[in-house]
Amino acid sequence: MNKSELNDAELSRYSRQILMPEIDYSGQLTLSQSHAVIFGLGGLGSPASLYLAAAGIGKLTLVDFDEVDDSNLQRQIVHRETNIGQAKVESAKHNLAALNHHIEIETIAHKLEESEVLALVKQANVVLDCTDNFTSRFALNRTCFKAKVPLISGAAIRWEGQLSTYDFRNEESPCYQCLYPEDSGQELTCSQNGVLSPVVGMIGSMQAIEAVKALLNLPTLTGKLMIIDAYTMMIRTLNLKKDKNCKHCS
Ligand SMILES: [Zn+2]
Repeated sequence: MNKSELNDAELSRYSRQILMPEIDYSGQLTLSQSHAVIFGLGGLGSPASLYLAAAGIGKLTLVDFDEVDDSNLQRQIVHRETNIGQAKVESAKHNLAALNHHIEIETIAHKLEESEVLALVKQANVVLDCTDNFTSRFALNRTCFKAKVPLISGAAIRWEGQLSTYDFRNEESPCYQCLYPEDSGQELTCSQNGVLSPVVGMIGSMQAIEAVKALLNLPTLTGKLMIIDAYTMMIRTLNLKKDKNCKHCS
């Protein structure tokens, strides 16, 4: 994490990114000095963590208190059959470390109090919400807002996915509650409604893209909500303004 330069092995490994003018050597060095916290190592957190590890984010903290079940393997691609019964964070850490030994990976396998979430989020440069329930989503929205850390939020169900970035370094950014007031009712869950495996793969990968851009101060989906219908392959991007009546951020 306290890197001042990239070594030869890293220069070679990340050469396809360093070649891109928007990233270059300095951007890749920034990524290697960055800390991303991923909440949820399920369908979204799997591809997000794999791509962030492969892309050379210097430190990943993985947070999940669930264990790998055989019904997860249809879409949670960071886990293997041999990991069934293990803590998801340990399974993910093992497989991510096998992909990239240059990065540091920490794990948290217990349920966190909101004060612990805040302390963790304050150490992060970017946070990925790969959870599947409103309680966690609202807690991450509150803590990232307080800590002024960008929050990359993804969701997927059936054929549909949603993606947005709430960049709380920018005071104009809306928050998750501007979109979903806390009393907005029943949530849909994949366990009850189903989801096509590559749909979570697509959204989780896009969360990784947004995270890289947030770390490099490149344009993100801040102020926009992307909605993807994988059945028709139509993508819509809606403007999302800060709600002046939002109970949380206004
Ligand atoms: Zn708000």
